[in-house]
Amino acid sequence: MKKLVIASNNPGKLAEFQTLLAPLGIEVVTQSQLGIKEAEEPHHTFIENALAKARHVSRESGLPALADDSGICVDALNGMPGVISARFSGYPLSDQRNNKALLEAMKTHTDRRAHYACVLVLMRSAGDAQPLIAEGEWHGEIALESRGTGGFGYDPLFWVPELGKMCSELSHDEKHAISHRGKAIQVLMQKLALRT
Ligand code: IMP
Repeated sequence: MKKLVIASNNPGKLAEFQTLLAPLGIEVVTQSQLGIKEAEEPHHTFIENALAKARHVSRESGLPALADDSGICVDALNGMPGVISARFSGYPLSDQRNNKALLEAMKTHTDRRAHYACVLVLMRSAGDAQPLIAEGEWHGEIALESRGTGGFGYDPLFWVPELGKMCSELSHDEKHAISHRGKAIQVLMQKLALRT
């Protein structure tokens, strides 16, 4: 595999994938560079959405496609926002408004446990009957207020107990070493190595 399309237009995710995939010598292009529109994400599970995104982009580009469906799942909110994390506070998409909405939803909750979830799907072609699938989780807590400027999405609210820092205060390397996406990429690479 020499070239791979990332099935996402989320700038935060794209930056992370470019860093994570750089050492592999694979040319990474994004779906927007190829003029491919975003797929619908109508499903209730990360895996179904990731499959739909990868299949759509592989079909449109004729190239292998890597899709990520991810989100933050909060225990006290029965796993919400989960698959609707990106659009938790509606349209147009806004990380800042999403963070505000999550703090509001958590106002009366003392149980602050939450985890990020990531499902990756790598499809060699739109008809790939055996796509590579990898998952990662990252457990932490929802802070009482937003802090830090790094990362994207809910990172200014995600407290990482193992490091004693907010996710938005971590360096790229610190985040990738333990994040849901970092873990999922590692699993995916192990599976890819077994195939090639
Ligand atoms: P998707 O594009 O439908 O998979 O939406 C993913 C959404 O989950 C993002 O827009 C963020 O709101 C959230 N999310 C996923 N991964 C992260 C992360 O690493 N940091 C912060 N927010 C994330």
